[in-house]
Amino acid sequence: MAKGKGKSSPDKPRCGLCGKTRRLTKTDCCGNWICDDEHKYVIFSYARNSCHRNHSRYTLCASHHNEGHPGDWKDCPECRGSFKTEMYVWYVTNEYNFTKLENPPDYEPTRCSRCGTVIKLGTEAYSCLGEQYWCDECGQIEMQERVRRTKGSRRRGSPRA
Ligand SMILES: [Zn+2]
Ligand SMILES: [Zn+2]
Ligand SMILES: [Zn+2]
Ligand SMILES: [Zn+2]
Repeated sequence: MAKGKGKSSPDKPRCGLCGKTRRLTKTDCCGNWICDDEHKYVIFSYARNSCHRNHSRYTLCASHHNEGHPGDWKDCPECRGSFKTEMYVWYVTNEYNFTKLENPPDYEPTRCSRCGTVIKLGTEAYSCLGEQYWCDECGQIEMQERVRRTKGSRRRGSPRA
C-alpha cells in the first residue's frame, strides 16, 4: 500500500491542534483545519477530548467570531472588556488556540475566599457567587452550609440529637 514517495507531504491538511489528518473540517471562526470530532464528546461529561469543541468553546477566537465583533480577536476591546482578566488570558493562551496572544495582560491570581488557595479558573473546578470564589472543596462545604442553614430554620425541635 505504501507508495514510498514523500513520506510527509506538507500539503496534506492536518488538524492545527493535534496534527491528525483524518476527518478534518475547517473552523468557522478562523478557517483552520481541525478534527471533525464534535461527535466524540459525551454530553455533560465535560471531557475536553474534542479539538473542534475545545476551539469553539474555550478560545477567544471562536467567541469573538460568535459575538460578531469586527476585526481581529487579538485586539478586540469588546472581548477584552467582557471577561475577567484571568479568563481572558486563559482563552487567548490555552492549547486550543492555533495562534496565541503574544503579550497577554497581567492579572492577580484568583484565590478561594475561604481557604486562600489559588484557583486556576481556566482548568480547575470552582464555584463563584458575585465577587466570591471558592475552590472545589470549599465550594462544596459552602453549599452544604447554605442548605443546612435553610433547613435548620424549619427543623426546630427535631428529635435527632
Ligand atoms: Zn485535532
Ligand atoms: Zn478560530
Ligand atoms: Zn471580540
Ligand atoms: Zn478553598
